Amino acid sequence: MGGVGGEVKLGYHPKVKIGKRGFPLSREWVNMKLTLDDLSAAGEIKSNRVLVRVDFNVPMSKEFEGQITDDKRIVESLPTINKIIGEGGKCILMSHLGRPKGEVNLKYTLRYAAMHLTDLLRKSVYFADDCIGDDARLLVRQMKECDILLLENLRFYKEEEANDADFARKLASYGDIYVNDAFGSAHRAHASTEGVTHFITKCAAGYLMEKELNYLSKVVTNPAHPLIAILGGSKISGKIDVIKNLLNKADKILVGGGMIFTFYKAMGYEIGNSLLEEDKIELAKELLQTSGDKLILPTDVVVADKFDNKAASKIVAANSIPAGMFGMDIGPDTITAFRNEILKAKTVVWNGPMGVFEMDNFAKGTFEVAKALADATKNGAITVVGGGDSASAIQKAKLDKAVSHVSTGGGASLEFLEGKTLPGVEALTNK
Ligand code: AMP
Repeated sequence: MGGVGGEVKLGYHPKVKIGKRGFPLSREWVNMKLTLDDLSAAGEIKSNRVLVRVDFNVPMSKEFEGQITDDKRIVESLPTINKIIGEGGKCILMSHLGRPKGEVNLKYTLRYAAMHLTDLLRKSVYFADDCIGDDARLLVRQMKECDILLLENLRFYKEEEANDADFARKLASYGDIYVNDAFGSAHRAHASTEGVTHFITKCAAGYLMEKELNYLSKVVTNPAHPLIAILGGSKISGKIDVIKNLLNKADKILVGGGMIFTFYKAMGYEIGNSLLEEDKIELAKELLQTSGDKLILPTDVVVADKFDNKAASKIVAANSIPAGMFGMDIGPDTITAFRNEILKAKTVVWNGPMGVFEMDNFAKGTFEVAKALADATKNGAITVVGGGDSASAIQKAKLDKAVSHVSTGGGASLEFLEGKTLPGVEALTNK
């Protein structure tokens, strides 16, 4: 097989809803599902074709074609890839990138991810310019031990997200065994995350998947107490199930971000022009009634006269937001109170920014929470940051290495914290 190492050929393209298997994602999942180490111990890797679902859905520069702006997801998949090639397996990687909506759109090609992987591994990575079809089949057939092949974007076919059985069977035909290392896509039952498992006997969790599930399980299953959850972001609607699920588990839930204003409205406070979900006011009232003293809202907020970084701003008590002003961030008293709670914790989980952190003048609350998490980690607490905006915030604060775990999957980690079953994990083979 000819080395590619960055050289890429371009090429192309195919159906049945697959029923879910009835296995509730156990807290003890790790004792239930096959892992990469189990496959290794059983001698299943050497010489075998290992089909791996990775999550190479990385952000790409809008200015420079092919430039990956954050390679965390690729870097985090290296332990699994290295394990497979280190044991003489043939490593066939598949992923999606962006939302090409079931059509070939080279704006979303994975060829740059293949090149980047070549650089990271200092080893040729072959690239199939179509994830199915004759070329991909031939490339797979020509693979030798320790070779790596990346298939083009799975979402160039609508069949991927439709979890089409024919498409899944075609993908599955490339592998003797299957490894799912794409935690970021585990909350979706797609052909490459769920469908393929119907056609391959041994389906295991990769190292990244294992790491993600282990850390998140530490939060939702027998956490060391006190367990503090910090929830922020724009809306209550996006976090409602997490709040409900964590109310049973956490000792305190610290709430920040845009969602606090719907709570304030429910409490009868003036909120000015701050973010409001009118249809969630009743729900907010219910939550405040049922949560006892677990739900902690900011006592002071930073307000601005415009929704703009350069707006004039001031700090006011939560119950004194002037009419016409926008609530942009949590205030200094709240930062201190949240910090004190976080430093008392043995387990902390954080999902969602405390304010409009994309604007430098309103990023302080979010960055201070990030710092408190880093300090709690130094004190021995397990600190877990959900993906998405809180992950970018902690990276921006350069504290991502100072916490126990930063998830690579925003949606997936949120669903896990909601107590939901992740289809991509559920579909893996039971031990
Ligand atoms: P989510 O996707 O729901 O986690 O929300 C993340 C977004 O919430 C970020 O883009 C923040 O800018 C936004 N956000 C946080 N606090 C506020 C606020 N006080 N007002 C408006 N948006 C906010």
